Amino acid sequence: MEKQSLLSLFSSNPDKYYKVSLFDEKGFKRQNCKLCGKFFWSIIDKKSCPEHDNYSFIGDPPTSKRLDFVNTWKELSSFFRKNDHEVIQRYPVVCRWREDLYFTIASIVDFQRVMNGKIVFEIPKNPLVVPQMCLRFNDIENVGLTGRHYTSFCMVGQTCNADAPGGYWKDKCIELDHSLLKDVLGIKSEEITFVEDVWMGAGAFGNSLEYYVRGLELGNAVFTEFEGDEHNYRTLDNRIIDMGAGLERLSWITMGSPTSYDATFGPVFKKLVDIIGIDIDSKAEFLSRYFRIFSENYSNYQNDPRILKTNIAKELGLSYEALEKIVLPFEILSIIADHTRTLLFAISDGSLPSNVGGGYNLRIILRRTLALLDRFGWNLNLEDIMDLHIEQLKSMYPELKEHKNDVRTIIQIESDRYSSSKERMYSIANSMLMSKKKQSVEDLIRMYESDGTTPDLLLETGVIEKIPPDFYLKLAELHTSHESKQIPVIKTVSGLNPTRLLYYEDGSIREFDAKILKILEDKYLILDKTAFYPRGGGQEPDFGSIEGIKITDVIKQNDIVLHKVQVPSKDHFLENKIVHGIVDNVRRRSITKNHSATHILNSAARNSLGSWVWQNSAFKDEHYARLDITHHSALTKQEINQIERTANEVVQRNLPIMINVFERSNAEEKYTFRIYQGGAVPSNNVRIVNIEGWDVEACGGTHVNKTGEIGLIKILKTERIQDGVVRLEYVSGNNAFQYVQSQDSQLLHIAQSLGSSKEKIIESFDKVTVENDLIKRKFRMLVNRFSDNMAAIVSQKATKSKSGLKIYGIYDDEIGDDYYIALGEKSIDIDPFLVYVALIRDQERIKVIVFVGEESRKIIKASRIAKEISLKLGGTGGGGTDKFAQGGGRDKSKIHDCLKNLENLLTDILDSSEKNG
Ligand SMILES: [Zn+2]
Ligand SMILES: [Zn+2]
Repeated sequence: MEKQSLLSLFSSNPDKYYKVSLFDEKGFKRQNCKLCGKFFWSIIDKKSCPEHDNYSFIGDPPTSKRLDFVNTWKELSSFFRKNDHEVIQRYPVVCRWREDLYFTIASIVDFQRVMNGKIVFEIPKNPLVVPQMCLRFNDIENVGLTGRHYTSFCMVGQTCNADAPGGYWKDKCIELDHSLLKDVLGIKSEEITFVEDVWMGAGAFGNSLEYYVRGLELGNAVFTEFEGDEHNYRTLDNRIIDMGAGLERLSWITMGSPTSYDATFGPVFKKLVDIIGIDIDSKAEFLSRYFRIFSENYSNYQNDPRILKTNIAKELGLSYEALEKIVLPFEILSIIADHTRTLLFAISDGSLPSNVGGGYNLRIILRRTLALLDRFGWNLNLEDIMDLHIEQLKSMYPELKEHKNDVRTIIQIESDRYSSSKERMYSIANSMLMSKKKQSVEDLIRMYESDGTTPDLLLETGVIEKIPPDFYLKLAELHTSHESKQIPVIKTVSGLNPTRLLYYEDGSIREFDAKILKILEDKYLILDKTAFYPRGGGQEPDFGSIEGIKITDVIKQNDIVLHKVQVPSKDHFLENKIVHGIVDNVRRRSITKNHSATHILNSAARNSLGSWVWQNSAFKDEHYARLDITHHSALTKQEINQIERTANEVVQRNLPIMINVFERSNAEEKYTFRIYQGGAVPSNNVRIVNIEGWDVEACGGTHVNKTGEIGLIKILKTERIQDGVVRLEYVSGNNAFQYVQSQDSQLLHIAQSLGSSKEKIIESFDKVTVENDLIKRKFRMLVNRFSDNMAAIVSQKATKSKSGLKIYGIYDDEIGDDYYIALGEKSIDIDPFLVYVALIRDQERIKVIVFVGEESRKIIKASRIAKEISLKLGGTGGGGTDKFAQGGGRDKSKIHDCLKNLENLLTDILDSSEKNG
């Protein structure tokens, strides 16, 4: 569906789609832009639409009030409250209820759920207003520069289901928005222009009216009215109003400040300016002039706003450098204020800076902020800046305070990581400076990806003269969308009723009778009902038998469960026959315990480590389970112990595990988005698994009734599997008991081998270690004492070649390399013409040791010899210095050959180096 054809569909009937009662009442006339052809509504006659208007509110606000960010919200929320709207709290900026988004990018996303590829709306109150913080990373480079771009902004969402109780439609919506501008902010109706537009997405569409004042778009009222396409559509049963207005912009227009940042970050800005001691107040008039010109012309210079900057400098009669001196500190402060606020919200809501997924962009802006502070030498500390944000926003977002300490922890860890990698980054920058190679955007991206070298650091060190305008955009594009998960599909099954899921009706059923409805591919049985749990939510399927034939896999496709039988089914099964199924009870019990243990461990990890811990993924099989959690570092032994101890305390408390089905919106309201540990739930009804007082998750798996049934949880291993993700591997129940027993018998075996007992094993082990060290030391002493004599023998035995080298080669598979290294070193000391080659058997490998005496070294190098011999032995080469080198290979059949032809080999090397040299 083309946007243009939709627009012409609606524009051809403006009275029906765009004209609202307010337009008639106040005398808004429909007009056509002479510059771009857009239609718009305004009281006064205008040649062009407001997109071409200048930003004349800068320095001269058209409002009767001056409202900072928080006060704008206060006025706005009380206005909507007076007009029968429910004012609700913001949703998290980390969008856990949609699989296709990392972050909440618009207020309407709060209420969108995806079902069967279609978006459905769940609006908790009707109508409502929400101050939704939104994160977007497609404008990183414009932040600070343009005066109005952000990585996080507050979108005030005025949301309404027109067809539900309390709902209203276009007339009332525009009437309210007009009244907000006129009666609350004091903007004259003549200043307001509504521009016609359309919106479409996820199979639905509608028209929209954007409203502008003096060139600044303040809000956009979207009326989602139809589904289908422009040729064939029908009216939705539930028509939705989604009016989104940027709070930063509303505040800006009342303040008339040079940029929207001064209005938005007011008190934060003031403090920062004080700390770093830059003078902005006396520049206010200049900045107003600059940003006004910039804003008016920005749309023509979007590809490289720096060209616009150069032009403005000319216009103001300044050199570019002189302009930068005034404007740049202001821009950088704005970037720092924006980026820290974004990080504050994202980390508070449980996201972690990392190299993967949504965390990627967080690390980009965090490192950018740190690099900027370095570049300007400003003594600011990110945690303190965040405290300023928390203080400023406390009445709007009191929840930020709750996670203050967790945010500090994460910022501290990330800052330390940045500092420790800085030295390496500076040395990379220096070597680049020497090479004088011109760096492309792709080069810079590669450097950021591989070493974390930010372009700001390269700018600081003079490697690049400017940061390419599309650097951050290209970087962000690499990491914006989720990978789509592909589930293999057996074959379409249609016309069948959903399988009745006995395992949900009664978790204790292990035997059942059912009718075969269909057999697919001669190996998949579809029954009318089943007690077999199919693979899903990280839980492996039940095994067992149907009519005595083994079931080797169970999967679910949409509503249908498929049972894979071990042998071709035609000999045993007929459609429409009743069969008897038996679920393997031991396997099911074991998986169920491992699964329940996963819930307990997930919360134990969060309690022990911090609020940023979420389940990243999980896998639950019969003898093994693993849980991947989001965490910044590898776990320490103490942390692992604490998690394990906490988890087992929960087991011992024998807490009841309750399972109830809730309507999704009720579940979210009652238990928050913490329930989405396993990802979003694609249905109206959510199965809530509640370990009373400990953990609540939406989950479709099998669980024990009380935590005590798990018996024991034992963590086997933890591993940091990727940046920001730690894996816990564990067993529970009988598997845990068996694990402990097998550890115990291994211990016993070791104790007996040491001639000791389990009780004294550490003592005995320490004793053996001491003895072992002593033997090694004695061996080295012996070698030293006799190596003078041995070296003399080596020198004697060496054969003199035509080229003047004295060659000695030996093979040994008994005494280790320690001895032969000591001997080689001694031998070339007493004989400077000696070339010493020792091949030592080291299990499956032949180790090559080469020493070359001082005189011979002038014509042949040890490293070259080690390399050639290694190649002959089937290895990949060796390494070392001119004097001493090592290598190796695995082809034992070549040992004899190598030693016998050592002289030829050396001659070849000499020849080839003469040719090349
Ligand atoms: Zn226009
Ligand atoms: Zn579960």
